[in-house]
Amino acid sequence: MKKLLADRVGLVDASGIRSVFALAAQLADPVNLSIGQPDFDVPEAVKDAAIKAIRDGDNKYSQTAGDAELRDKIAARIRREFGWDEPVVLVSSGVSGGLLLAFMALVDPGDEVIMPDPYFVMYKHLVSMLRGRCVFVDSYPDFRLPVEKIAQAITERTKMIIVNSPNNPTGVVYTPEELQSLAEIAAENDVLVLSDEIYDEFCYDGPFASVARWHAKTLVLRGFSKSYGMPGWRLGYVAAHASLREVVEEMAKLQQFTFVCAPTPFQKAAVTALDCDVASVVEAYRRKRDIVYEGLSEEFELVRPAGAFYAFVRSPGPSATQFVERAIKDNVLVIPGNVFSSRDTHFRISYATSDQKLRDGVEVLRQLARTEQASGDG
Ligand code: PMP
Repeated sequence: MKKLLADRVGLVDASGIRSVFALAAQLADPVNLSIGQPDFDVPEAVKDAAIKAIRDGDNKYSQTAGDAELRDKIAARIRREFGWDEPVVLVSSGVSGGLLLAFMALVDPGDEVIMPDPYFVMYKHLVSMLRGRCVFVDSYPDFRLPVEKIAQAITERTKMIIVNSPNNPTGVVYTPEELQSLAEIAAENDVLVLSDEIYDEFCYDGPFASVARWHAKTLVLRGFSKSYGMPGWRLGYVAAHASLREVVEEMAKLQQFTFVCAPTPFQKAAVTALDCDVASVVEAYRRKRDIVYEGLSEEFELVRPAGAFYAFVRSPGPSATQFVERAIKDNVLVIPGNVFSSRDTHFRISYATSDQKLRDGVEVLRQLARTEQASGDG
């Protein structure tokens, strides 16, 4: 029989996450600590702006690189933040869209892409699909940016280094010093950095810092999904120093023949979103972070998360997958760490849920840890 599917699909292995979803499908009303999307809704003013845009007939294609007003507003922000004169901006269909375009524009077969392990799983799959090679740099047990190990991993084939801070899945926020050291290494080796800053607003213990401040050869990817509670609107952007104009223009060319543009009425509404103050939401998430950390740190080993809305917790038993299966049997959904890592020692909690659900989930996990401890002692 003639082969139907391309070899490419075999390069993506989604079995880990699928087995969690299969188990979860059997639960009626689980405490769901697995979802990476905010539990708050889009600000009313932004909803109104989207509805107005639709009513006003802004329903056609926008320019490929994005609505001019939105791009100007993003460019002004980037100019202020990094002091770059003429930043280049491309509005993408979510950060996911920006990632796909970036990797398509940059990664040839055999090219190496360095990323700390654990990592956001999409990076691995996109690099694999393009037949690039992921070079994972271990960041256990504290999940700090492993600058020295990254330096050692750079070769002639290194195409880029991926940095994601605040981090999914660990919740760690890199310090300005760490980012500056990485920038020095990247500059010495003339390597591009892709900085996934989708959680930039969600920093609980200090201000956010971007590696782009110290390294102009950085593609900055930011999104609207998390900050404004609109993951279904599919909006993000790529911003870069003028010296990377060609890269962003090639990404725009690829966008023209794939996504065409990000959704037009939502781009209009995003102009309003950029003026919204998200401080109260961030404050609510800081409290959720505290519920998780204070609730779990006695029974579990975990690094205190400082950003995003995740905690990466060490499983009490030898296999995190088995611990997660037990948690799911007790109605609590979390994700085993081997979905994001070559190790199966941790699990990821997303605390983007109601405080009550979070407290319920934390209690179940504590009970499980005590049971595990008792059976281990016996
Ligand atoms: N990067 C990271 C680190 C993420 O966690 C996510 C969403 N889970 C994305 C990118 C993609 O987000 P979106 O496409 O909704 O902008």
